[in-house]
Amino acid sequence: MNCDEAERFLDAYLDGELELSQQLELEQHLSGCAECQAVLKERREFRAFFSAAAPSFMAPPELRDKVLAITREEPTPAKPKVRQFPLWRRPWLYAAALLAIGLPIAWMVFYENREHRFARQAVSDYVRALFVEHLCDVVSPDPQVVNSYLTAKLNFSPPVVDLASAGYQMRGGRIDMVQNRRVATLVYRRNKDVINLFMWPATRHRFTDSDQVISGLRICTWNDVNLNFIAVSTLSDAELDRFTDLFRGAISNQ
Ligand SMILES: [Zn+2]
Repeated sequence: MNCDEAERFLDAYLDGELELSQQLELEQHLSGCAECQAVLKERREFRAFFSAAAPSFMAPPELRDKVLAITREEPTPAKPKVRQFPLWRRPWLYAAALLAIGLPIAWMVFYENREHRFARQAVSDYVRALFVEHLCDVVSPDPQVVNSYLTAKLNFSPPVVDLASAGYQMRGGRIDMVQNRRVATLVYRRNKDVINLFMWPATRHRFTDSDQVISGLRICTWNDVNLNFIAVSTLSDAELDRFTDLFRGAISNQ
């Protein structure tokens, strides 16, 4: 990527609209180009989103290295296999059976893809927050402080819980964009790993419980109290599952 190309990507980068691969390519260019870094800095300063007065929490360099390393190792997704049905006998019966089986599957795939799109955007927000070293708009371990800050900026009140006694330290929260909607993001840490927990009101589509791996990061999605949730982290499966169980348990008791 050269400077002209980099400059064309900067606005989309600040809006969080780049594909992960483009984003990493741009960041690689930026890391070696002071001129583009200066342009980025200038543009970022105009963005209300990164409001100057907000305190920020720096990601530890080891974590950034870890995320960079795993996102570089992104495996190419396996192509879905298409099963061949023997249509040469009783074609109408098979066609009817295909329709009966195919419609619900198509419906499921549509929704799965939608959740996957949301999850990909959440992953992109997670990586971007680490790279621009702006994990939190509000830094506080106090759920009430974080809830008040986010509620004042959103049209809903995100549940915020203290899980420090279980080893998950809350660092604060921020506002993000996921698929063109403003969402609340809570930031927790467990040792060197960072968890971003995205949430917003489920207006039409309620997320189902799912676990996936995108770009080497672990993702959990679910729906509780009429909110959709996406947790993104470098934690192991077991530790992220434990976090989501604790969080879900805590908000069901609120
Ligand atoms: Zn450049």
